[in-house]
Amino acid sequence: MIAKNREIPRRILMNEALIERLTPIHYLLQVIKTDLAKRKAGYRGELQLDYHLQFISKDKNIMILHDLRLEIDGRYFQIDTLLLTSYLVIVLEVKHISGTYTLDSRFDQAIRKLADKEEAFSHPVTQVERQKKQLIRWFTKMKVPSIPIATLVVMTNRSTVLNTTSQNEKYHNVVRVENVEERILSLLTYYHKEHFPIKQVRKLSNLLVKKHAPLIAFPDEIYGISTGEIITGVQCPECRHLPMLRKYGHWHCLMCSGKSKDAHISALRDYSLLLSQQITNKQVRNFLHLESRKTALNILHSLNLHSTGGTNNKTYHFTLHTASQTAHQSNSSTARPSR
Ligand SMILES: [Zn+2]
Repeated sequence: MIAKNREIPRRILMNEALIERLTPIHYLLQVIKTDLAKRKAGYRGELQLDYHLQFISKDKNIMILHDLRLEIDGRYFQIDTLLLTSYLVIVLEVKHISGTYTLDSRFDQAIRKLADKEEAFSHPVTQVERQKKQLIRWFTKMKVPSIPIATLVVMTNRSTVLNTTSQNEKYHNVVRVENVEERILSLLTYYHKEHFPIKQVRKLSNLLVKKHAPLIAFPDEIYGISTGEIITGVQCPECRHLPMLRKYGHWHCLMCSGKSKDAHISALRDYSLLLSQQITNKQVRNFLHLESRKTALNILHSLNLHSTGGTNNKTYHFTLHTASQTAHQSNSSTARPSR
């Protein structure tokens, strides 16, 4: 069963929001668009994997956790997908690569060739083995009883041509996505000694979910884009014009005469992706171009955000849950047209 869902990566949502809120002539726009396209392809690959795990994910004795980021001794490591059973743990690393992908362990690298252009990456097997080592350390620290850990590199692009430079290449755990379920089942047949009962597997799964530490980074840290470069205001859901004006409880667009009751939700979601996970009444007014403190307060209350501080210095906190919830409401990742 799925113990931790895969969500649209925050970086994709951040890039999308950023593209909408930078001037169309911003010098980093192309860099952001390229990064977005790459990450969307990677995410599509991960969804491909999920599709091929459908059968396994119905098994109550297999816990599936997607997108884990864990800390060990002040450093973080990430796992695309983790499978937990009483017999075996499997670490899955997803690769969504176009063109020809050649594994070369002599130099511990993988070479992607696409349209006569070659690019080197780290060897995926080395990468997933490193994750396994980090997970062993994490398990030791958390006093998880010893259990075998297998690794798989899943190639999710069906058109990828896989290649090796020598016969001794380490590729035994590299698998094409259409064969992943079969490979997992054969691993589970091979490891049949029970290491801990399913009850404890579920406990471990809960612990992993609890200890998951999502990366929250903003455009200033990633791209060096300052707050002042981000265009504020409520965006028109019809024509994407910024800003809309608030009149008689609605947002009005001066460009297309469109009207919206809740376009501020998407704007505040952008705020949480681009500027901060926290906001004050004054910041709401600045970002949404509102004059009225009371309107800002009503908006904040309607979002049911957790708040801290007294009446005069109250700070509201966007949780990740709120961020993804509002993302779903505005259906951002698919509905947002790119400029
Ligand atoms: Zn409009």
